Amino acid sequence: MSEINILSPHVADMIAAGEVVERPASVIKELMENAFDAGAHSVTVEIRDGGATFIRVQDDGKGMAPEDAGIAFLRHATSKLHDEAGLEAIGTMGFRGEALAAISAVSEVELLTRRPGDESGTRVTLSAGDIQDMGEAGCPAGTVMQVKSLFFNTPARLKFLKSDRAEASACVQTALRCALGRPEVSVRLIRDGKEEFFSPGDGKIESCVYALLGRDTAKDLLPISLEDGDMSVSGFVSSPAAGRGNRAMQFFYCNGRLIRSALLQSAVEQAYKNTLLTGRYPACVVYLKLSNAAVDVNVHPAKTEVKFSQEKRVFDLVYHAALAALTKEDRTGLDAAAKPAPAKLYAPSPAAAAPAARPAARPDFYRSMKAEDFRAHNYSVKSGPAPRREEAAPVLRSYEQPYQTRLDLSAVKMPDSTKNEALRPEQSVKTVENSVQSVENTALPDYKLLGEALKLYILVETRGELLLIDKHAAHERMIFDRLKRQERSVMAQTLLESVTLHLGEEERELLEENGELLSELGFEIEAYGEDDYILRAVPADMEPADARAAVEEILEKLKTGKAPDPKAARDEILHTVACKAAIKAGYNTDRQELERIVRAVLSGQVKYCPHGRPVSAVLSRRELDKLFKRIV
Ligand code: ADP
Ligand code: MG
Repeated sequence: MSEINILSPHVADMIAAGEVVERPASVIKELMENAFDAGAHSVTVEIRDGGATFIRVQDDGKGMAPEDAGIAFLRHATSKLHDEAGLEAIGTMGFRGEALAAISAVSEVELLTRRPGDESGTRVTLSAGDIQDMGEAGCPAGTVMQVKSLFFNTPARLKFLKSDRAEASACVQTALRCALGRPEVSVRLIRDGKEEFFSPGDGKIESCVYALLGRDTAKDLLPISLEDGDMSVSGFVSSPAAGRGNRAMQFFYCNGRLIRSALLQSAVEQAYKNTLLTGRYPACVVYLKLSNAAVDVNVHPAKTEVKFSQEKRVFDLVYHAALAALTKEDRTGLDAAAKPAPAKLYAPSPAAAAPAARPAARPDFYRSMKAEDFRAHNYSVKSGPAPRREEAAPVLRSYEQPYQTRLDLSAVKMPDSTKNEALRPEQSVKTVENSVQSVENTALPDYKLLGEALKLYILVETRGELLLIDKHAAHERMIFDRLKRQERSVMAQTLLESVTLHLGEEERELLEENGELLSELGFEIEAYGEDDYILRAVPADMEPADARAAVEEILEKLKTGKAPDPKAARDEILHTVACKAAIKAGYNTDRQELERIVRAVLSGQVKYCPHGRPVSAVLSRRELDKLFKRIV
């Protein structure tokens, strides 16, 4: 007798169901995608307990004809794909015709559906994949799909479900991710009778993101938008200051489909190079649009992975979009008027907010926009050639300088450079000046340098707000940027007293391996005897007193793999040099130096230290008034 059996369609469905329907959240995903494919404008998802007892998805889409309502549950039943050629350019979420078959095979389903033009609708009930009842029924236009007792006939599956709470939260996450991909569809999620979220469906990505991710996340997002021929990307990336400990807040959509993509993830993260702390990840919502033929969605059963036909173009598009947004970011609170998109994000237009009409969630947008501030303020825009420093005064109208004497810049010393005898005289002359590139050419707002607090924070009054600047972090960034811009080798200074380094074997190897790079960056290190090395020169910017600490720090970074490739190593070394060269906390800094840092920050060139810490923060008049209970 033959040993080979052809499985019955029923058993085949049960096996296939295992792939498509892993847990209640998978049902939500499939049903929501069907609703989107049906052209719904509004979708309501309801779950009870963890979803296994009850899931209901209602849409106002195109519905199904009575004769289709029963067929829809057969395996490979789909209205979205007719032949092989169609597979080349799938524009719908579904196309495999598997979901309804799989879901109904392991649950009890009730379908109610009516096409908008039809008088009456159809009701179909199924249990374990078998139709129980089918007939005419009155129902609203669109489709309601109700799934009960999920996995009732597959106890093994049921056993693998987590607690109701965990399953419910997976359902919420999935529904949210689906909803976030469709700003043009209003999605409401109800969990155990309570509304969990609601997106307005006005087609605006800002109101969608605001409604679904909440104010706290939304306020740190910068808009991105870029086009390249038939490809375009829009969405948001987070400010480097809002880096997160994991990638849970990264959302990528390709033509409305939520996808996982190492390519897009790295395109976004590359844009944060040198602005995000190691081990921190940006948040992002990235909507990629490209022709259906330029992407293959049929490479993964759950269709969460895709293949792009032009990976490099896609990468570049996303990378440049993110980079442009980060470059434009304003950390001084001054430039918000020139940034319509983030203002929109904080403040969905009243029309957009209206359908969302949940008063508690309505944003306090006038505060964020500070619209009245923009109007009140007159920027001092300079014209003509950049004036010399002495002529810059008109820009600083409100700047009172009771203590300031006009110093010859070349005589300005760094605060802690004087304490160092090993320094050659000409190198003790180091100013913040040479770190700033053409700040003088940038129009700055009026400001008043109030002074320095705690030997670290520069206090500036500007535009009716208090701007606080971390002087070390800001200066570090200025130096880092300048060193990085320098194509050629970094200038070195010979140490008057060379430093002897006693190194272990691993460190010696690292030093040999990276010798060329180190010397390019201004470090001159020579072997001396068995395991000693002599440090003869360090980058000109650096304090010779920090020479030893700098080399030790660099070796440590190379050792712990913080610098996986030569480019990263170069950046890491420059981080160290910039940090050691920057003015330090705990020392008084000359007013003129502070001034230069302030101007660099106000010009918008300096926003994050090379590790991603913000260099400035704004305390608004309103925040101060609140602190003193002048307003509540
Ligand atoms: P697929 O989505 O891959 O086509 P499904 O099993 O999810 O397969 O759905 C089968 C068919 O049932 C769809 O092709 C569609 O014609 C119909 N259908 C399912 N859900 C809906 C819905 N919410 N509104 C209208 N038609 C639907
Ligand atoms: Mg489907």
